[in-house]
Amino acid sequence: MKSKFFLSACWLIPHIFLSSIAHSLRGQQESQTVNGSSSIWSIAIHGGAGADPKRWTHEQIQLRMEGLHAALQVGVSSLESGGEAMDVVEAVVRALEDHPHFNAGRGAVWNAEGNCMLDASIMDGHQMLCGSVASVQRVKNPISLARRVISDSAHVFLVGDGAEKFAEQLGVALVEPDYFRTDEQRRSWNRWKERDVTNKTSWNQNPINVDDPLFYLGTVGCVVLDSHGNLAAGTSTGGLLGKRWGRIGDSPIIGAGNYAKNATCAISCTGVGELFIRHAIAMRVSLQMELGGKSLEEAASEAIDSILPKDSGGLIAVDHRGHIAMPFNTPGMARAAARSDGYRMAALGKEESP
Ligand code: ASP
Repeated sequence: MKSKFFLSACWLIPHIFLSSIAHSLRGQQESQTVNGSSSIWSIAIHGGAGADPKRWTHEQIQLRMEGLHAALQVGVSSLESGGEAMDVVEAVVRALEDHPHFNAGRGAVWNAEGNCMLDASIMDGHQMLCGSVASVQRVKNPISLARRVISDSAHVFLVGDGAEKFAEQLGVALVEPDYFRTDEQRRSWNRWKERDVTNKTSWNQNPINVDDPLFYLGTVGCVVLDSHGNLAAGTSTGGLLGKRWGRIGDSPIIGAGNYAKNATCAISCTGVGELFIRHAIAMRVSLQMELGGKSLEEAASEAIDSILPKDSGGLIAVDHRGHIAMPFNTPGMARAAARSDGYRMAALGKEESP
C-alpha cells in the first residue's frame, strides 16, 4: 500500500509541477496578447477604395504610396514608444488629412456646388467613447475636432455651423475653405460636371463604376491596437465627388464607417457610404465576433464579400489580439499595416495583397 502511494506520488508531483509551469507560461502569453502589458501592437491604415490603381499615372501612384508610408511611420514610431491608441489614430489621420492626394482635409473632393464638406469620426474602444463632426468647411483637421467632441462636449456628433462654432470656441485650427481645394480635385470636379444628369444622381446609391478613374474614393482611416491592449479607430473624408449639399456618408457615423470596442476590434471603412450605413457594416463586424463567434478575418470578409454588393468598398480592422484584416471588393484600396513582430506592408491594388 505504502509503495503504491509512493509510486503515485513520484508520478503526480512532477506532473503537477510541469503542468503548473505550462499553465503559467500559457497565462503569460495570453496576458501579453490580450492585456497588452508587453510590447504587442498592430496598426492598419487606408487611403480609400475604388478604381484600379493600374489606371493611375506613375506620379499618382508614387505620391499615394509615399503618403501611406509616411503616415504609417507616424503610427509605428509612436506605438514603439508606448503611444496610446487614441493619440496614434489622431496623429496618423491628421498626417493623411494634411496630404493633398487623399480625399480628406486638404485634397478633399468637391461637392455638387464645388465646395469641400468634410466628415470625420474617432472612437476609443477602451471606454467606448466616440466623437464625430460632419459638413465642416473650415476645420483644418476634422479628426482632431471629432476628438474634442469627446473631451469637450456632452455630445457625440456635431454638424456644420455648430461644429465650426465649437471649433472657434476651443481654438481648434480653422482655415479658409480654399485651403482644401487642390488642382487635382478641380480637374476631377470639372470632368464630373460634364457628365449627364443620370450619372450624377444615380451613383451615390450604387456600387462604384470602377472602370472610371474618377471613382478613386481616397477617404482615410486608421485602426490601432496599442501596447496597453487598447483599440481605437478613426476615419476622415471629403465624401463622394459631386455629392449633394448636406449629404453625409458613413465615415462620421459610428457603427457604419467607424467603430472600436476593446473586446472585439477596431474598424474603419471606405466606399459608397449609403451602402455601409444601410448595413451598419462596422458594427456588424464587431457583433459577428462578439455574438457570432467569428474570427476577425471571417467577420470582415463576410461584411465585404457577402453583405455589400461588389465594387462598393472595403475596410481595415485590427482585433484585440493584434490580427489585421483588410478586405475590399473594388479593384483597389490604398492600405498599409505594421505589427510589433516586424510585419510591414503597403499596397494599392489586389495583386499586392499580403
Ligand atoms: N465612405 C465615404 C463616404 O461615403 C467615401 C469614401 O470612402 O471614400 O462619404
